[in-house]
Amino acid sequence: MARYTGPACRICRRHGEKLMLKGARCFTPKCSVVQRHTPPGQHTASRRKVSEYSLQLKEKQKARYIYGVLERQFRKHYAEAERRSGPSGENLLQILEMRLDNVVYRLGFAESRRQARQLVLHGHITRNGRVTNIPSCHIKEGDNIAWKEGSAKTVPYKEAAQEIESKEIPGWLSLDRSNLSGQVLSIPSREEIEVTIDERLIVAFYSR
Ligand code: SF4
Repeated sequence: MARYTGPACRICRRHGEKLMLKGARCFTPKCSVVQRHTPPGQHTASRRKVSEYSLQLKEKQKARYIYGVLERQFRKHYAEAERRSGPSGENLLQILEMRLDNVVYRLGFAESRRQARQLVLHGHITRNGRVTNIPSCHIKEGDNIAWKEGSAKTVPYKEAAQEIESKEIPGWLSLDRSNLSGQVLSIPSREEIEVTIDERLIVAFYSR
C-alpha cells in the first residue's frame, strides 16, 4: 500500500478524533474535527453495526496514520514487538516511539511527524554525530539526536529554534534548548506514551 498523501484532516474526521497530524493547526479552532463533527463523504450517518474486526482494523490503521508508517513496515514492527519479552502491544508502541522521525518530533524539532520525517529524509538530523536519513531508524537509550551543523542556517531550524521554548518534552528525553540537541534517557513506558491508541485491539487484529 502506498503512503497516504491526501488531506490529513480527512483521516481525523474518519476516525472521529484529533490525531494531531498537522502540527500547529491542530491546536487552533481551524481543526476540521472541531469544525465538522461528521465523517468525510456522503452517506455518513450509517447505522451498520460495527464488528469486532472492523474496530481492530480501525485501531491498527489509526496507529499507522499517527506514526506515518506503511502497512509492510508496521507488520515488521509488530513482528519485532512479538519477539520481545513483555506485552506485544506495549512493545509495539515503544518501537514506534523509538523511530528516529518520532524522536525528532517528540524533541520539538518539527511541528508534526510528517515534518519530522521530511527533516530526516533531507539529511538535517544526526544521530550520535552522524547524519541519518532513515526515518524508521531505531533509536536506542543514550543516543544523541541533533541537527546537522550546516542545517542551522535553514528555515526549518530557525522555525524550530523560535518555537522550542514553548514545547513540552516528554520525561524520557532530555533537550538542550540552546543548541537544539537531545538525548534519549530511557525507553518510554506505556504511561509516558501519549497516544490515544488501544494497543490491545491491534494485538487482537494480528492474532486472528
Ligand atoms: Fe486532525 Fe490536525 Fe486536521 Fe485537526 S487540524 S483534523 S487534529 S490533522
